[in-house]
Amino acid sequence: MADFYCPYCNPNYFFKKQRPDGVLICGLCGDKLVKKKTFKPIRLLGLAACFAFIAPMILMLNSTFNQQKVDSPIEPIS
Ligand SMILES: [Zn+2]
Repeated sequence: MADFYCPYCNPNYFFKKQRPDGVLICGLCGDKLVKKKTFKPIRLLGLAACFAFIAPMILMLNSTFNQQKVDSPIEPIS
């Protein structure tokens, strides 16, 4: 069963009630309960922001390692 919550009340204290017509309402304020979303768009935004900060660092490390390979040719041991 899908999880419902009241957007206005504290989730620790609210309780579900069912109206005679079958709609779930909050026991404290009497407002309709909202279905919890599993996918939140704000999470995608956060992920994009996180990637924007991390991607330049990864590219910089990658280019540094590639440069080291070119700069240090194998020298014979004398
Ligand atoms: Zn409520």
